[in-house]
Amino acid sequence: MTEAAAAALPSRRATVTVRVGGVPVGSAHPVVVQSMTNTDTADPDATALQVAQLAHAGSEIVRVTVNTEAAAAAVPGIVARLHGLGVSVPIVGDFHYNGHLLLTKYPEAARLLDKYRINPGNVGARRRDEHFATIVRVAIENDKPVRIGVNWGSLDQQLLTDLMDANARSASPRDARDVLIDAMVESAIRSAELAEATGLGHDRIILSAKVSGVQDLVEVYRRLAARTDLPLHLGLTEAGMGTKGIVSSTAGLAILLQEGIGDTIRVSLTPAPGAPRTEEVEVAQQILQSMGLRSFMPQVSACPGCGRTTSTFFQEMAQDIQGYLREQMPTWKATHTGVENLRVAVMGCVVNGPGESKHADVGISLPGTFEEPVAPVFIDGALAETLRGEGIVPRFLAILDDYVDRRYPAPGSGRPTAGPTPVG
Ligand code: SF4
Repeated sequence: MTEAAAAALPSRRATVTVRVGGVPVGSAHPVVVQSMTNTDTADPDATALQVAQLAHAGSEIVRVTVNTEAAAAAVPGIVARLHGLGVSVPIVGDFHYNGHLLLTKYPEAARLLDKYRINPGNVGARRRDEHFATIVRVAIENDKPVRIGVNWGSLDQQLLTDLMDANARSASPRDARDVLIDAMVESAIRSAELAEATGLGHDRIILSAKVSGVQDLVEVYRRLAARTDLPLHLGLTEAGMGTKGIVSSTAGLAILLQEGIGDTIRVSLTPAPGAPRTEEVEVAQQILQSMGLRSFMPQVSACPGCGRTTSTFFQEMAQDIQGYLREQMPTWKATHTGVENLRVAVMGCVVNGPGESKHADVGISLPGTFEEPVAPVFIDGALAETLRGEGIVPRFLAILDDYVDRRYPAPGSGRPTAGPTPVG
């Protein structure tokens, strides 16, 4: 993260740092991107491959469900395959109903997972606290953190009933939604207290309380943040597919992040059939980068086009450039320090083209209808070159390569990051 991006971070309310594998979560650390696989964990080949894909896309923590004995038994094979691929991303085990059994029966899984997620709403009805304490003790023995992940779809029904009853008896009862949100917060806080009473360190606990509506999400996390100094995992549960899932997640997470609430995020998209699982990582990164909280990828500004652009040439060019930058990033990240802060503009005509291009590091303004068929290129705000004819795209990509080489030095080269090209 650049110093400018760090300075843009709102002050975080969590004052505790929890280490998940080698990744710090909380306090002033950057908001961490995480994701979850949708493979059968019992299939170590498929799961290791998808974990590697998510990590390659930028997921800094990856969760896998551990729902059966076969899944727990597969964890060592998954970790071994990832080591073979050179992938060291922390792996979190997601436990429901039988976590106390699986973690005790499969000690290798307990040892190799980097964090356990416990849902206090489904660790058992009659022996809830006992099962919960069993998982916590395994975490203590293995020196692992836990996430206490409350979800309104599986909220502790006894706690909810108690709070609803108490509300009904009060002189001025609140509405049911209000009590439900309190029950979620209460479940998270009481579970954290129980974990600490069992012996787990305060710096080994992350909390979440997920709902599927934006306004409910904002309300529950505001109340939760007011009650704890522990790091918070943010996410809209069951966000949905496509535009709906992306927009709902962005709306909810952006409000909270802007208030300094949230230390790690997951965007729970339902992928379209055949769509890559990594889309949820790209969306999470884009939320953080759009808000100026972190930088992951060079950003391309492109105008929407209008009646002044009768061909799709500039749309295709914007897409080609975005694709080129995405392809280059795995290499550039290792060879060009700070390249994720690069800003590129691809504009469709002279109306806003030159102006927007001047605000970018490198920008091109393509000719609109009835304009002279030339494409001025601006570098660091100054007109650098005018392209025309065939080969505009490869020439512009060559200009980008040159700019990246010059502006973003190799790590450890001792060469300072070059300033902008002097204008004039
Ligand atoms: S920059 Fe030109 S082409 Fe793009 S939206 Fe504006 S007027 Fe239309």
